[in-house]
Amino acid sequence: MQLIFHPCYLEHETGVHPENAERLKWALNEECVKPESGEEFLGLVHSQEYIERVRQACEREVSLDIDTMTSQKSFESACFAVGGTVKASEEGGFALVRPPGHHAPRGGFCLFNNMAIAAVRLANMGKKVLIVDWDVHHGNGTQELVVGKPGIQYISTHQSPFYPGTGLESVANCTNLPLSAGTNDEEYLRVLEPVLERALKEFDPEYVGVSAGFDSMRGDPLGGFELTEHSYLQVCELIKSRNCFFVLEGGYSPLNVERAVKSIVEFFG
Ligand SMILES: [Zn+2]
Repeated sequence: MQLIFHPCYLEHETGVHPENAERLKWALNEECVKPESGEEFLGLVHSQEYIERVRQACEREVSLDIDTMTSQKSFESACFAVGGTVKASEEGGFALVRPPGHHAPRGGFCLFNNMAIAAVRLANMGKKVLIVDWDVHHGNGTQELVVGKPGIQYISTHQSPFYPGTGLESVANCTNLPLSAGTNDEEYLRVLEPVLERALKEFDPEYVGVSAGFDSMRGDPLGGFELTEHSYLQVCELIKSRNCFFVLEGGYSPLNVERAVKSIVEFFG
């Protein structure tokens, strides 16, 4: 499995903020494939009005909301994050991107919804896509953009109660599995495994895209879960017979992100 990374991901400046370039500097030392810009795909899920709002916020270096910062280079970084995710979905890779996407267009450190764009693009080509979101936060943006969309199913595990406060119940094609702070591997897999197995069997997707947030890992400064690589690799084990692709969401301990990403890439070989 290839790592997909572009140095411009480090140029999305956020100031003193948990979502900063330190999270991904380690990728400069890895063998990575560079994506192209995915600007042409933004309109698959985002309105022109929203795209222009983000573009202008970046030009003026103003924040999109209270915790979603932008800088001059952020629009370009975000377009390359979309391009990296689309490339990962085409070639079976791990897109190591910034800014993350699963809260977009609802802020939460995210500018464009990388995963929703890649999944809708595949669905528009007649493919069935299952999205698994193991970030510690609910992907309210992804749910909003894919709910009711034929060819897509979304499963999210997330800490509750917690930001953004959504994802308490399942809706249509979006299965939400809220879990309490302190959830460990055993409790996590006990809830997720049967739901994931059933979706794989009954929905039978050709593609599985993982919104891979490592803020669900033990030791994360924001998240309250106690997961280890074991949970992530167990999900990989269940989905490995499909066309799998991954995109980085949250995860605010750079060492955790590096360790977990490397274990997943190693798993797929
Ligand atoms: Zn998160």
